[in-house]
Amino acid sequence: MANTILQQSLKNLESAFKNFFAHRTGFPKFKSKHKKQSIRYPESCSIQGKSLKLPKLGIVKAKFPKTISGKIKSVTVSKTSTDKYFAAILFETNNLIPHKTGKISGIDLGLTSRVTVFDGETCTKVDPIKPTRKYAKRLKRRQQALSRKTKGSNNRKKQVKRVAKVHEKIANTRLDFLHKLSRKLVDENVQTRHGASVLVVENLCVKGLARTKLAKSVLDAGFGMLINFLGYKLEREGGKLIEVDRFFPSTKLCNCCKSKNNSLNLSIREWVCPNCQTHHDRDENAAKNIREEGVKILSTNTVGHTEIQACGEDVRLVGACAKKHSSVKQESPVTA
Ligand SMILES: [Zn+2]
Repeated sequence: MANTILQQSLKNLESAFKNFFAHRTGFPKFKSKHKKQSIRYPESCSIQGKSLKLPKLGIVKAKFPKTISGKIKSVTVSKTSTDKYFAAILFETNNLIPHKTGKISGIDLGLTSRVTVFDGETCTKVDPIKPTRKYAKRLKRRQQALSRKTKGSNNRKKQVKRVAKVHEKIANTRLDFLHKLSRKLVDENVQTRHGASVLVVENLCVKGLARTKLAKSVLDAGFGMLINFLGYKLEREGGKLIEVDRFFPSTKLCNCCKSKNNSLNLSIREWVCPNCQTHHDRDENAAKNIREEGVKILSTNTVGHTEIQACGEDVRLVGACAKKHSSVKQESPVTA
């Protein structure tokens, strides 16, 4: 039994080198001793009642958030830096949700404000959470305590865990929020109308924005992750995620007359179009524009060219989640 686990480690090493030679990643590094540890069982695992049976270890009590029915392909057991154990179970299933149809919604990801969704009829807003800010004090206190501990002492080791716990709390709070939000967006969008359910989002530059003053908000909001979650959740249910290019001026276009208002900056939450005098809520207007752009992409079904392109912007239709967000958004929020 144990030899298959060792073989698995070799396989992992092999894929690490393959990825390195294909220029996908850097040179393989040794596993860190103090961070997340994991072990993968490629065979002979089973579920027995409320426990997981693993080779060599035997029966381990576990909590299952979902029922697992189907052949187990592999089990990866990992331990976090805060000494929690998790098992990721890969299994075969035919139990996928059938393709549903739904509506098209545009989503504006507000950095300092909210996530605004326009489904063609109504606008809904979701307030963001700010776990990094919320736990900043606690983190600072524990880090300061850590710096006072003697190097190599047991108390220091204990304090390291205490610091890791805050980081874990922040990450978990964010993940929980993003999973719930993406689930909500996907569920609310899946209704019978218009054919496939489609969500349209802006392709934001998460890394670029994270270098600006708004770093905490950007990372706290976890937009890269949100887009990723939306992508795979939609795909699973037969929907589609469309990313509108970051240069699409979603905020500055008036949704009524399509004139561009260049005088907007991030601090303006509401504005009146100088051309047609329509009063706009900044986020709602943006969500409407994003949706419209998505509809345009869908109806022409071309990858790339739309009317907007004439003035230097372009639009891309991308497959669900296998996308990196790594360029700077035009509407740089440094002025905020
Ligand atoms: Zn207007």
